[in-house]
Amino acid sequence: MVKKYYDKDCDFSLLDDKAISIIGYGSQGHAHALNLKESGANVTVGLRRGSDNWPRAESSGIRVMEVEDAAEAGDIVMMLVPDEHAAAVYNAQVAKHMKKGNVLMFAHGFNIHYNQILPADYLDVAMVAPKGPGHTVRSQYLEGKGVPSLLAVFQDNSGKAREYGLAYAAGIGAGRAGILETTFKEETETDLFGEQAVLCGGVTELMKAGFETLVEAGYEPEMAYFECVHEMKLIIDLINSGGFEMMRHSVSNTAEYGDYVSGRKVVGKDTREAMKQILADIQDGTFATAFIQEFSAGGQARFLASRRKEAGHQLAKVGCELRKMMSWLK
Ligand code: NAD
Ligand code: MG
Repeated sequence: MVKKYYDKDCDFSLLDDKAISIIGYGSQGHAHALNLKESGANVTVGLRRGSDNWPRAESSGIRVMEVEDAAEAGDIVMMLVPDEHAAAVYNAQVAKHMKKGNVLMFAHGFNIHYNQILPADYLDVAMVAPKGPGHTVRSQYLEGKGVPSLLAVFQDNSGKAREYGLAYAAGIGAGRAGILETTFKEETETDLFGEQAVLCGGVTELMKAGFETLVEAGYEPEMAYFECVHEMKLIIDLINSGGFEMMRHSVSNTAEYGDYVSGRKVVGKDTREAMKQILADIQDGTFATAFIQEFSAGGQARFLASRRKEAGHQLAKVGCELRKMMSWLK
């Protein structure tokens, strides 16, 4: 079982004489900056001059500097720019301002694990990764609660990297919910696997296959959309709050019986083999190399073509029309 830490295990006073610089003020950045500041930490946000987030952060009472100045000012520097830009930002604007004893932090392990950022050996390198979107990290904090978060140490020069990570995690409210210890490798590989095989890739292809099966058999696309796409949320909400047990308790016996006899026909041997291959491609860097190439200068041809193609699918069009009938959706 993973090791868990709570507020009582975190020494927030370690941050008393530390300047924390957070690079980026998006989903995670705004939540980390505001929560840490309200916890009593000395926080600066680093942004590009002209960024829309600059006035937004300042109007919330956060000190803002250009990325290089913030990196220079920070004893602890948390990188919260999009993962595909982090290496360029770090290498050009942050690295040269990182001094011995400084702590470099991330909320996702990709750039460290796949060697896109090679931090100097005199730095501590740690991860604090909330398992929820930034707006939840913020709203839970305001309610006196927190979002469970992952902690990992990649490099421990000071001998205190874990303690700094715990103190930072406590400052964003994570110690109220629980901090789970992992590694950069485990966080990165499981995160990529989950989003590809199950959450994003797996779920959309499953929905599409169900939709296409019904439509090809002559059923109305609207019916197919309701049954194979729209109702997923009802099921997932039940699983999310009470596990498979609560979902199976809530649906009809017909649905529960069908679940047992048919589910494993859909996700059978082929799918499990495909999942193993997806995991192997993540572990040996094949996926990371393809992703990095796709997003390097002038790229994204495949990414944007896929986005266009998916948007043109019948499922997308039918869904757009049906959602207009649902007044509770914005
Ligand atoms: P985001 O896209 O919401 O915000 C990125 C921020 O970086 C913005 O303020 C943007 O203006 C700024 N930015 C972009 N390019 C920049 C540049 N070149 N120089 C300076 N600033 C720049 O990103 P996010 O979702 O908050 O993700 C940040 C990190 O948190 C990532 O490592 C991500 O994997 C991780 N994470 C995100 C979530 C989530 O739910 N969003 C959850 C856990 C971890
Ligand atoms: Mg994730």
